[in-house]
Amino acid sequence: MKKNRTIPFHMPHIVNEDIDSMIETVKGAWLTMGPKTFEFEVGIVEYIAARNAVAVNSCTAAMHLSLRVVGVGRDDEVIIPAINFASAGEVCCQEGAMPILADVEKESGNIHINAIEKAISRKTKAIIPVHYGGQPCEMDMILGLTKDKGIYVIEDAAHALPSTYKGRKAGTIGDIGCFSFYATKTLTTGEGGMAVTDNDEWAERMRILRLHGISKDAWKRYSDEGDWYYEIVELGYKYNMTDIQAAIGLAQLKKLEWMWEQRCKIAEKYIEAFAGIEEIGLLTLREDRSTSWHLFPIFLNIEMLKIDRKTFIELLKERGIGTSVHFIPLYRHPFYRKNFNYEAKDFPNSEWFYEREVSLPIYPSLNEEDQDYVIENIIDICKKSRR
Ligand SMILES: *Cc1c(COP(=O)(O)O)cnc(C)c1O
Repeated sequence: MKKNRTIPFHMPHIVNEDIDSMIETVKGAWLTMGPKTFEFEVGIVEYIAARNAVAVNSCTAAMHLSLRVVGVGRDDEVIIPAINFASAGEVCCQEGAMPILADVEKESGNIHINAIEKAISRKTKAIIPVHYGGQPCEMDMILGLTKDKGIYVIEDAAHALPSTYKGRKAGTIGDIGCFSFYATKTLTTGEGGMAVTDNDEWAERMRILRLHGISKDAWKRYSDEGDWYYEIVELGYKYNMTDIQAAIGLAQLKKLEWMWEQRCKIAEKYIEAFAGIEEIGLLTLREDRSTSWHLFPIFLNIEMLKIDRKTFIELLKERGIGTSVHFIPLYRHPFYRKNFNYEAKDFPNSEWFYEREVSLPIYPSLNEEDQDYVIENIIDICKKSRR
C-alpha cells in the first residue's frame, strides 16, 4: 500500500461562523475579557447544567485556581493518575503540595480505584481524576472514598466536553470541573479553559484570582457601569480569557453536539473495523457513561507483533498518517525522576498502557476515505508485522 494521502493527527474544526464571530469582536471596542467572555461562561453553564463558570486562559490555570480555592497548600498531598498530561502535577508543585501518582485501569486509562485507596493518607487534600480520552472515571466510587475525609475532587475534564456520567455532564460531578479549549480539544478557542463549580464563593474567588487579585474586572472598571476605582485584595494571576477567544468559543459551542456526533460516527467505524483484529485492543466502554471521543486510543498486542509501538507509529507516518501517544507516565519524566522517588514497577498498568497505546486521528473533517485509509493501513501493518 503506497502513501497517497496525508492525514494529520488533528485538525481543529474552525469554519466561517467561528471566523465571522471572531472578526465581529475584533472590530468592536472590547478585545480582552468582557461581555463575550461572560456570554461564553453562561453558554457553558447552561450546556452542562452547572451553577458557575469562570473562564481563564487555560485548563492548567483553571486547575491551579481550583487548588487554591479548595485550600491545597504546602505539604498537602494531591492524588493524580500517572498517565497524565503535565498540568495536574505542575499546579500541585506550584502550590507546594505533593503530587501522589496513582496507577490507572488498563481498560480505560482512568485512575484506578484501588490505587486511590492505597494512596489516601492523612495529608490527602484533593484528587484530580482525568477523564481519559473523554470517558468519565468511576466518579461515584471516587466520591465515596473522599466523602467525609475533607478530600476535594477536582475533575480534569480537559477531554470530556461533552461526556456524561449517569446522565450528568462530566465536569459537574466533583467539587470543581476544569475544561480545556486548547487547539486540539473538542471545543477550541486556540488557548483557553474554564472552571465550573456549584460553590458560589469559590467561583467568586477564582474570578478575583484570574485578574491580579483585583476585586472588579476591567470591563466593569472602564465601562459606564463601573468607575476608575479598584482594589487588589489578594495576590492574583494574569489568567483571564479574552473576548476574542470567547467569540470563537461561542461559535464553537453552537456546533459542539454536531462535532461530537461526527466523532461518534468515526469511533463506531473504527470499533467495527478493528473488532476482529487480534493485534489491536480497544478501550472498554462502560454502559452508564458516554465519551466525548476526544481521543481514539488503540492498544497494540505487542506479544503478537515483531515491531514495537515506536516502529508502528513510524510506519504509519511513512504512509502519511499522523498519530500520537497519550500519555508518557509522569514518573518517567526527568523532572519527576529528579524530585520524587517513584518507580515504574509500582505502576504496572501505566507501564502496560504506555508500551501499547496509539491515539488515532478523530475529528469532524476526517472524511470517509481518510478513515478507510487509516483502517486499511493499520490492518496492513498488523498483518505484515505478525510474529
Ligand atoms: C490538554 C490537557 C490539559 C491542559 O489544558 P490547557 O488548556 O492546555 O492548559 C490538562 N489535562 C489534560 C488531560 C489535557 O489533555
